[in-house]
Amino acid sequence: MKIEENVYALDSTKGSYSYLINDKETILIDTGYPGKVKAILKEIESLNIKPKNINHILLTHHDVDHVGNAKLLQKETGAMLWASEKDIPYILGDKSRPGIKRLVSLLMRVKKPEKIKSYDDPKIADIEIIPTPGHTPGHVSFVYKDILFAGDLIGNSSGVLKKPPKIGNSDDKSVNESVLKMSEYSFKWVCPAHGEPLKLNDEWKELLATIAGN
Ligand SMILES: [Zn+2]
Repeated sequence: MKIEENVYALDSTKGSYSYLINDKETILIDTGYPGKVKAILKEIESLNIKPKNINHILLTHHDVDHVGNAKLLQKETGAMLWASEKDIPYILGDKSRPGIKRLVSLLMRVKKPEKIKSYDDPKIADIEIIPTPGHTPGHVSFVYKDILFAGDLIGNSSGVLKKPPKIGNSDDKSVNESVLKMSEYSFKWVCPAHGEPLKLNDEWKELLATIAGN
């Protein structure tokens, strides 16, 4: 699904969207549930983009529905894989995911990437990396032009933007703070992992206050 020029939501990852930005550099954001590598590569090729041309794979956070194909996609594309310093130990298995997430990661075995770099600059190519902790300790969101790639900071439930359910958040209070932090920006699109990309008509700051209040 095309969002804007050079920006796509990968339909093959519907349920936990991965996004592709094909600008001066080619960037993949998140990698979806495990087991989708072939479908993802096929879809990227159908957009006339060579998987080998992907320069960077950026992860919003450590949850298995976001890192599901990270290892294999890194292998197939040769891209540099990035995540936040605080979430990398969960991705590499050096720390156990907390609570119910531990169970999920036991049920959905995710191949661990070998090489992963932590975000050491506020920008990679044209993408701004914004720390938005709370859902996980090192959750980040990405801004490209006037599009917010929100990971699990904000989801879209049938056209209503919501923060993720409390049970899955490592620090629910920080989620609110991270949501409100986005009022420094204005966006035309919000692209969440869960739910469809949403074109914004409403006042963004008011929308954020509502999301944080729920
Ligand atoms: Zn998720």
